[in-house]
Amino acid sequence: MREPRRSVAAATGRQRCTTQAWRRKSRRLLLFAVYMLMPPTRPRIDPKLAPHLAVMAGIALCTGVLLLWPQAVLAAGYQCRLHALFGVRCPFCGMTRDFAAMLHGQRPVENPCSRLALVVVYGVYPTAVVIAWWRKSLDVFYGKALCCGVAVALAAMLVLNNLG
Ligand SMILES: [Zn+2]
Repeated sequence: MREPRRSVAAATGRQRCTTQAWRRKSRRLLLFAVYMLMPPTRPRIDPKLAPHLAVMAGIALCTGVLLLWPQAVLAAGYQCRLHALFGVRCPFCGMTRDFAAMLHGQRPVENPCSRLALVVVYGVYPTAVVIAWWRKSLDVFYGKALCCGVAVALAAMLVLNNLG
């Protein structure tokens, strides 16, 4: 008499266990379904790196346009506001034509700083961004030293572009 009772109790316990396991499984399945239905989270981009990525995307876009459709840009007849208003060539006057020329293997003739600008745009700047990002020191781009350096360089470019 005891034997069947025991086995009934065991069977009930086993059944309870199976029910609990099934509930746990279904809860996990429900959580997984909810997780799968959630919108995917966007990869987080370092907010200090974002402006540099935008600048480099702009450089890539301008390079592509100047490589593929230089005439479309040069024939647009864009005139520098500073030059139109004051007759002074800004530090960048002539660089669009020079970059189009250099990207097609020709010599720059409009702006004496175009070669240096090419090195900075395609070499120094992207390398500096990668190194600063790697060292987690992107703050260097917002430092006083770099701002002063850029101001001095622009002043020198302004003078050089108006000498000729
Ligand atoms: Zn200009």
